[in-house]
Formats: sequence, structure tokens, C-alpha cells
Amino acid sequence: MRNTNTGIDYLLDLNTRHSQAFMDLATERRRYRGEHPTEIAALKCMDGRLHLPVMTQSALGIIQPFRNLGGIFNLGWPFFQAAIDQWVDYSISRGRHCLIFVTYHFARGDTHRGCRGFQYDTDAAKAAAINLKNQFDSVYGKGGAVVPIVCGIETDLDALILHGDDGRSIDLANAKESSQLELEEMLRSLYPSMPERVIRDLIPLIRGNIKHIAEIRTTNRPIEEAEHKEWVLGVGRGFDWLHVINTAFIVGPFDPNLSVAIETAARLLKNNIDEGRIDADGVVLLTSGVYRDEAGPEYHLSREKALFLSKFALNIIKDKVPDLAPHLQILTGRTNLNTRKLEVIERVG
Ligand SMILES: [Zn+2]
Repeated sequence: MRNTNTGIDYLLDLNTRHSQAFMDLATERRRYRGEHPTEIAALKCMDGRLHLPVMTQSALGIIQPFRNLGGIFNLGWPFFQAAIDQWVDYSISRGRHCLIFVTYHFARGDTHRGCRGFQYDTDAAKAAAINLKNQFDSVYGKGGAVVPIVCGIETDLDALILHGDDGRSIDLANAKESSQLELEEMLRSLYPSMPERVIRDLIPLIRGNIKHIAEIRTTNRPIEEAEHKEWVLGVGRGFDWLHVINTAFIVGPFDPNLSVAIETAARLLKNNIDEGRIDADGVVLLTSGVYRDEAGPEYHLSREKALFLSKFALNIIKDKVPDLAPHLQILTGRTNLNTRKLEVIERVG
């Protein structure tokens, strides 16, 4: 049995604390954006260990996360391409470049601390990231405003592995504290077509990661084992406050095979109960839509989306994994992207 908290109240409390931290950083974010205007997104696995703001020592909200099982995405997916294209349009309309971390993850100490979404096959995960990066290049063009880079995330030391255009890579766990000039030269040689502006805006994240790795080494942080203890099934968007290891399966909504992804996650949750790894009464189906503007239709659409996704997911669970249904607490909400606060729309349990 787990000895940590579970259930809806725990989640709401976690969200409140994250939202407060996010709002406390508003001034810092504004200052930072003034200096480093490039918009930054990260495509990554839903694994709770992959917390890039912590790993790069950057303020919450600077890096926009897109999460899916295994970090698997495809620009052919209708909803995913719409979300990306909207983000690119928004950035370009403000005269900003777009930097996209196309990531995979692994652990240097043990293959089995790697990515379950790829059955711990790091080469396959890396190959998928390279394919996705190439897809971005062929859609948006190389050397333009949209700059995708392949980036490994090594979770034992929280180190980023930067993959260059020519197949070379740099593991930041082997990088030394360097001058601005040295870092610029390193990035220029790794990414010859990267615009100057993007290089200057990438450097603080690199510097932050080098510092963070040094701190992990100094404190001798115990290695976090990825265990099957998840007790939340999150469906929708706006979950960057839910970055706790072994807690949540986060699904789509980008994947066109959404129903299959929900079924898979539901089976894994049921398995966690059957194996006695989690408290059967603390399992939560959490759904969230997102919005920025309370005045317009976006606010109301986010409610409709959350309610729809919640019923949709529940129906799949009742149909495919019926033994899980009686255990579920249900939390349906929408997340304000300006505050990261989750507003409760419906709550059962
Ligand atoms: Zn993973």
C-alpha cells in the first residue's frame, strides 16, 4: 500500500500550491521574456520525472510542455498539428522564434529506469525523436523561425543530451561551467543553421542544466525508481502542475487513437490495484480543458471539452475495464493558463 496522499483533495491542494508558485514568478517571467523572447516548447513523455523547468533552472511557464505516452507525436495527427500550428502562429505574430525540444528519455544507470512507452528501448525512442524533428524541418523549413532540436533527457542526473544536425551529441553531464563565448561556440558548431537569437535564448537553459547537474551530484540525490504506482488518469491539457513521479498517466488529447490510450492507461491503473501497489479508493479520473480568456467562447468551450472528455473516458472504462469503474473518483475541471489554477466543474468522490 502506498503511504503518500491520494485522492481529489490531494490533487486540488497540489494544484493550488503549483498555481501560487506560478503566479509568484509572473514578474520574473516578464523580465526573462524581455531578455529572451524565443518561445520554447518541449515535446515529451508523460513520465513525471521529466520536469524541464527544474532541470534547466528556468521559471515555470517559460517552457510550454506537450506530453504524451513515450513522447510520441506525429505532425499528421489532426489535433496535434492544429495545436502546434496555433502556437507557431502566435509566436510569429509577436515576432518571436520558436524553439522546440523534441525529447526522448533514459537513465544512464539502468535501462529499466528508461521509458516504458518504448519498452525501455532508448535507441527506438531516439529514432522516433529524430523522425519527428525531421518532420518539423520538412514542414516549417530548416533555418527559419521554427527550430526543432533533438534532446535526450537522462533522469539519473537530470542531464540534457543535445543532438546536433550532423549526428554528434553533447551530454551536458560532461560539460564544464563555461563562458558565454564558449557556450555560443559549442551551440554554433552543433547547430550551424540556428538563428543567433535562438542561440542566445537557449544558452540560459544550458547554463541552468549544467548548474542543476552539479547540484544533483553535490547532494547525492537518491535515484528515483519509476514504479507502477500511478493512481491518476489525466485526460486533456493543462497538467504541467502534475509533475510528481509515479502519480499519473496523462493521455492526449493529441493522439487520434485516444480511446486506445485511455483503455491502456485504465488497464495499468487496474493492474496497480490488483497488485496491491495503490489504494483502491484513491484512484482519480481527472479531466481538464484549458483557456486564457474568461470573457470569450474559449472559456465556455473549455468546459464543454472537459465534460465531454470525462464522459468519453468514463464510457471507455465502463466498457473495456469495467472492474476499475467502481473505484473511480472523478474530477472534471478547466485550467486557466495565466494562473495554472484548476477550476472544478464537476466532482464525484
Ligand atoms: Zn517515458
